[in-house]
Amino acid sequence: MIGTPLAGNNDWRKVLENFSLPLSVKNDSLLVECYNILVKGGNVDVELGTKLFESPNLSGISALADLIKKSRFGDYVYFNDNLHVNTTNICVLACRFCAFRKGPRHNDAYALSVEEYLHRIEPFSEIIDEVHSVGGLHPDWDIEYYENLYRSAKKSYPHIHIKSLTAVEVKHIASRSGLSVEETLFRLKSAGLDSLPGGGAEILVDTVRNRICRGKESSAEYLTIHEIAHSLGIKTNCTMLFGTVETVRERAIHLHKLRSQQNASGGFQCFVPYPFLPDKTRLPEAQLASLNEIIRVIAISRIMLDNIPHIKAYRMNIGSNVASIAINSGADDIDGTVNHEEIMHEAGSSARLDSDSEELAKIIENVNSTPVKRNTTYSNFTRYRRKPDDDNRRLPVAQSTS
Ligand code: SF4
Repeated sequence: MIGTPLAGNNDWRKVLENFSLPLSVKNDSLLVECYNILVKGGNVDVELGTKLFESPNLSGISALADLIKKSRFGDYVYFNDNLHVNTTNICVLACRFCAFRKGPRHNDAYALSVEEYLHRIEPFSEIIDEVHSVGGLHPDWDIEYYENLYRSAKKSYPHIHIKSLTAVEVKHIASRSGLSVEETLFRLKSAGLDSLPGGGAEILVDTVRNRICRGKESSAEYLTIHEIAHSLGIKTNCTMLFGTVETVRERAIHLHKLRSQQNASGGFQCFVPYPFLPDKTRLPEAQLASLNEIIRVIAISRIMLDNIPHIKAYRMNIGSNVASIAINSGADDIDGTVNHEEIMHEAGSSARLDSDSEELAKIIENVNSTPVKRNTTYSNFTRYRRKPDDDNRRLPVAQSTS
């Protein structure tokens, strides 16, 4: 859209009001109700969200989500240059959906020393501006390990933003160290922790959590830990793992809880929904998510989370092809270059790990969108221009007419 700033429109509801609705939205009273609520400044609640999950009109839901995304960000789609480094796969818990964790005596168990951590970053340090680090709940590591890790990383690579720790890791470090969550986050921030990635939300309904990740932090604890981070000026992100044992109403409740937390503390930057991948996990009763459901979740996230700006199509889980469909169904971000990833790949993901900026920009351009490189906090943007194709073999892209 001409005139959309690289950071997006704050006044997106007015832009949305001026769009003409496609027939798939205009002829659907549920979608018209959602549209009217949003342009008037309201939000789509659990009842309407549940109806969206039950609606047969997926094309209309995607079209409305796409309009909302375009109202906010035009045809821009964001990505960044990052690297994933997991600190340890040793974990005192055993969530049933997790293919990553290992017991301490397992042959493949590892726990990186600070030197090994820095060594992992070193080959990429000139081309990334973010390291994304999460890991298991190591039985012996307290806050001193993490303070040392972040201080050392900042000393060696001061330009790299450290996005690290899920809420349950924060809880575990606090408990191991005899500190409150607030003291823990304050000390980690002082040592160099810049933001939290948001993993571990799963479904924020405790009956579901008890079935898939008993012993993990409760729904309220997940939200409180993020609230405390926000109060300390630490930006965070939030996630949803779907396709295990939850109902569609529980998905809507999850989205509503995140929206309410954002209303209260305001520090969520991006929502990252991803489907459960079953390889090497212990959840045979999981329903699994079809392609249609993945797109539906991303689209409904965009419709319900009117106060969380960015919705990510997480390539590491859903792959580049599905991510490219998601771009036209409400997503405005496809994450980063990543370079190395274990958690989703252990569970069966085959997403490529050698994508560079050119490759990501190509995924975005191939669905008629414009690639924009961002930093982790979405405060710095550069319109990314690919090198011209040598052979000009790109296929023409179908344009929407309504
Ligand atoms: S999801 Fe996290 S807390 Fe749960 S077993 Fe895996 S590594 Fe441990």
